[in-house]
Amino acid sequence: MLNPDFRFVMGKGIFSTIRLWCVLLFAALVCTTALAWDPVSINGVRYVPMSDMRGHYKFTSEERKDSRILYKKPGIVLEVKPGSQNIKMNGLKFVLSFPIVNHQSKGLMVAVLDLHKIFEPVLRPVYIKNRRTFDTVVIDAGHGGHDAGAVNRMAREADLNLDVAKKLQTILKQQGLKTVMTRTTNTFLTLQQRVDIANKYQNAIFVSIHFNSGSPSAHGIEVFTLAPAGTSSALSPYIRKDSMAGNAHDSLNIALATGIQGHLLKGSATKKYGFTPADRGIQRARFSVLCTIKHPAVLVEGGFMSHAKEGYLVTTENYKNFVAQSIANGIKQYKTAISGKRATY
Ligand SMILES: [Zn+2]
Repeated sequence: MLNPDFRFVMGKGIFSTIRLWCVLLFAALVCTTALAWDPVSINGVRYVPMSDMRGHYKFTSEERKDSRILYKKPGIVLEVKPGSQNIKMNGLKFVLSFPIVNHQSKGLMVAVLDLHKIFEPVLRPVYIKNRRTFDTVVIDAGHGGHDAGAVNRMAREADLNLDVAKKLQTILKQQGLKTVMTRTTNTFLTLQQRVDIANKYQNAIFVSIHFNSGSPSAHGIEVFTLAPAGTSSALSPYIRKDSMAGNAHDSLNIALATGIQGHLLKGSATKKYGFTPADRGIQRARFSVLCTIKHPAVLVEGGFMSHAKEGYLVTTENYKNFVAQSIANGIKQYKTAISGKRATY
């Protein structure tokens, strides 16, 4: 429980098959010729036309559906809505740092920063410049000790986080990965202590596990990565211009979040366990554990303890197994996606 309720409109994914989603990260990557990008400044933010984006990524069609625009190519559908920060790629929701705008002469435009920090690493993960593989997963069970996190009548968030963390550790070990737990008991750790533990290791990724609290109607799953320099965050309109240590992995952060959120929303574990959680999107924030971490890192909010139905579900063994298995599957997919050889021409 680190974030309040959000105002984002939740919608059902328009594409239900995991196959389509998998293609997103395993897309056949075609090197494109350099385009003459023609950025313009809108309210101090650099934007480029969506038509240039379409050409760059070789989308073959563009169609209007109600208030949304769909860009399509084999295996990939990108859905945007003028004026909105929410987009979908193969039905998976991402929250941009800046809204898509409708320019009077250039048509729909996307912020350069979002193009670099979201579109590019998701559509072409093997082109991430500082991509690196890993052999260790640092698992951070949020809260603990006197810090219960969110609480409902059935459970404390700190305990749920630890339960899922232990289940995740078991699965990852079975996959042959090394694991490090920031805590294995109901003890209190500062946020900096969690980062310090993680930063002792090399070739690692960091996954912080939480459950959420908000308004009575709020429900669903969201995954956070560190907000890039030059953007605001989901929790604050303040634009921070300087870069923090965690920003070194902006692109890998998004790729990791895509793998995990994709599996939590549309992966095989959703069918196995029979859960269909709502998609609250991949979002950006400046949570302490993400700011100074030196590894690709995400913070997972696995469901709302404050919601009448979901608040019960998250306390069940089945749901905790579902979250742990989905995170593990997402990590595996991320590893595969960044390990591909970059095409050379
Ligand atoms: Zn929490």
